[in-house]
Amino acid sequence: MAPSALPLIEEVQGKGTTSRNVGTDIDRTIENISSTLHEAIKHIYNNPELAFEEFIAHDTLCSFLEQQGFSVTRRAYGVETAFEVLSGEGGRLISINAEYDALPNVGHACGHHLIAAAGVSAFVGIALTLRNNGIPGRVQLLGTPAEESGGGKVSLLNAGAYQGVDAVLMSHPLPGAMIGSDPTLTGIGATNFLAYERWTVEYFGKPTHASASPWNGINAYDAAVAAHNNIGLLRQQFRPVDRVHGCMLEGPKAANVIGEYTKLTYIARSDTKQAVATLEKRVLACFEAAALATSCEVKITRGVGYADVVNNKTLCERYAELGNAMVGQKIKVMDNREGLGSTDFGNVSHALPGMHSMFAIDCPTGTGCHQHGFQSATGTEESYRRALKTGSLLARTGMDLIVDERLFETVRKEWEQNMKARGKEI
Ligand SMILES: [Zn+2]
Ligand SMILES: [Zn+2]
Repeated sequence: MAPSALPLIEEVQGKGTTSRNVGTDIDRTIENISSTLHEAIKHIYNNPELAFEEFIAHDTLCSFLEQQGFSVTRRAYGVETAFEVLSGEGGRLISINAEYDALPNVGHACGHHLIAAAGVSAFVGIALTLRNNGIPGRVQLLGTPAEESGGGKVSLLNAGAYQGVDAVLMSHPLPGAMIGSDPTLTGIGATNFLAYERWTVEYFGKPTHASASPWNGINAYDAAVAAHNNIGLLRQQFRPVDRVHGCMLEGPKAANVIGEYTKLTYIARSDTKQAVATLEKRVLACFEAAALATSCEVKITRGVGYADVVNNKTLCERYAELGNAMVGQKIKVMDNREGLGSTDFGNVSHALPGMHSMFAIDCPTGTGCHQHGFQSATGTEESYRRALKTGSLLARTGMDLIVDERLFETVRKEWEQNMKARGKEI
């Protein structure tokens, strides 16, 4: 890419702040890649892939970044559909996360292709601003698969992908009405996410003719029904923030055969990991009681759990301040609503300071995430433009974390305090 001179660089280095001065440069850089990146994002949107199977998305984004002159590590950290790009020298290291997995049946109804658009544009914005102006600092782009299930970021975290990273940023699209009661808001620095655990539950019974000799059978379908009903009864004792939901993955296919096998998956969520641990004991008892009542064998397999997200007010305040200085942006710092859902970014936010911001997508009234309406809404040109705007804002925030020592120290201290409050020694 052709380097472009940045006239305000002395100002940036002299004051140790702020990326408001480099905003125009970031915007120009992102505009330069906008049409080719759009082709890549449309390709991902039109080819939705599930957890750890995002080969098209992985290859498309890696090729795009290589075409821009970056050296890309494909299949990074032993995760087949993860990738990493590093740029810059010295200074602090900021990580930008890009998701790209989709959902069964509803495709990109969580808009993760737009997370990739925002993440890639933020990365390129920071990388070229650092390079063109000789500013010490580094930026990492991590392609993080399997957020909807499987926890790609947890695998990457355990494999050392975030080692040496000073702060991590990403942004997720959301129907405008879910951002807040103010319809003019275009984004929010942080909202609450719940911790969760998930399990696969299998019941093993014994088949027999359902009319001729039902007494010889052991009914795995009844065990599944009993488990679901047990959890339904338990709901009365839930705290308002507790959630348990599940579905049947495999079950009997004939009404005249007593079901031999059922396979279920369940998720339990609450506001903290400790609260989920308390809930877990009672949920597991529901599964086991169903086996006991029906004489089935049960096998419970625990999946990858997600932690709650540690929000950072200092970081969100800077994000909102920078966003509100941009044309057409109106960013709320954060809110204290009950958790929306869960994300593997939670685990990352327990390891280092981070921000999981949200940006608004125009949707018909009543549209929520994981719905067909949101899948349609995230495919428009306007939604793509919003993702790029968000990318620019993430880049500005990342630049501030690199050049503004006081900001970074305050962010880091707040994170340490938040972790101590959660009983973790830093
Ligand atoms: Zn989702
Ligand atoms: Zn999502």
